[in-house]
Amino acid sequence: QFHKSKGQHILKNPLLVDSIIQKAGINSTDVILEIGPGTGNLTKKLLEAGKSVVAVELDPRMVLELQRRFQGTPYSNRLKVIQGDVLKCDLPYFDICVANIPYQISSPLTFKLLNHRPVFRCAVIMFQREFAMRLVAQPGDTLYCRLSVNTQLLARVSHLLKVGKNNFRPPPKVDSSVVRIEPRKPAPSVNFKEWDGLVRICFTRKNKTIGAIFKQKRVLSILEKNYKTLQALQVSQGNGDQMATDASVLGDGGELNMETDDENDDVDDDMEMDDGESKGSEFKEKVLGVLKQGKYEDKRSSKLAQADFMHLLSLFNQAGIHFS
Ligand code: SAM
Repeated sequence: QFHKSKGQHILKNPLLVDSIIQKAGINSTDVILEIGPGTGNLTKKLLEAGKSVVAVELDPRMVLELQRRFQGTPYSNRLKVIQGDVLKCDLPYFDICVANIPYQISSPLTFKLLNHRPVFRCAVIMFQREFAMRLVAQPGDTLYCRLSVNTQLLARVSHLLKVGKNNFRPPPKVDSSVVRIEPRKPAPSVNFKEWDGLVRICFTRKNKTIGAIFKQKRVLSILEKNYKTLQALQVSQGNGDQMATDASVLGDGGELNMETDDENDDVDDDMEMDDGESKGSEFKEKVLGVLKQGKYEDKRSSKLAQADFMHLLSLFNQAGIHFS
């Protein structure tokens, strides 16, 4: 009667439900968001602990079962059920999210929550064990990856509870873990697209050196395209005094070599014919210059911390190099 494709694994161990509730630190004034309430085992205890529960459930049969379960109880007016795909619907206000989710939506859901405004206090979520370990991984850990870096940019993440397969009906194939995610306040003042663009490149081969990664043709050509587009935009927005404009837009990357000015003056026609190759290597030098400046050439992403990526991004940006 359960849909595997919808990730329906019902929590059957009441002690486990209690310990999730207890670890969640719910206040009696909290509006709680639950995702995938299923038959309502967790929902019931959430209603006991908080002020109200908004539950988003995809499966209409489960929605019915849930409504039947709480109909005519004192809980019914504090429970609101939204039928739909949590990834597609607008989320309402909530203080805290507590959920045993279908694992196939783990990553998009995590970032949907972290983008939600106003920022909530915390989310306590059951994930597949490996996903959970990726979320909390630190530089040097085997599972440290783009997911770790991106999540930890936006939130503090901690592992709360290991959960074996047999706590569910039917049991899933994998073990699980409950994780706490607390959004950072204030949110970091970094452009997330830029950030993710850099981190994505750095983790294409996390054990290669940063230098080796940025020497790849593919990477350089994408970055150079971006770079030229931005430069072209700046030129077209400028006036006769383009050099000055560019210099200031590019910031005061003092040590960096900004002598590429001449390309701005010249007619576009020349560019493709003459400069295709040499521009490429000039750009490569610029990129490698940034890595040298921050001493990142010989480092590996698997060992870089949050602050390193932040620093590297700001060096690139100062040099006019962007990732989105
Ligand atoms: N919370 C219940 C429990 O712990 O017993 C059930 C958890 S079960 C792992 C996941 C639930 O999420 C299922 O009821 C499933 O129908 C629902 N679901 C699956 N995909 C969903 C989606 N995209 N949006 C909302 N709910 C979804």
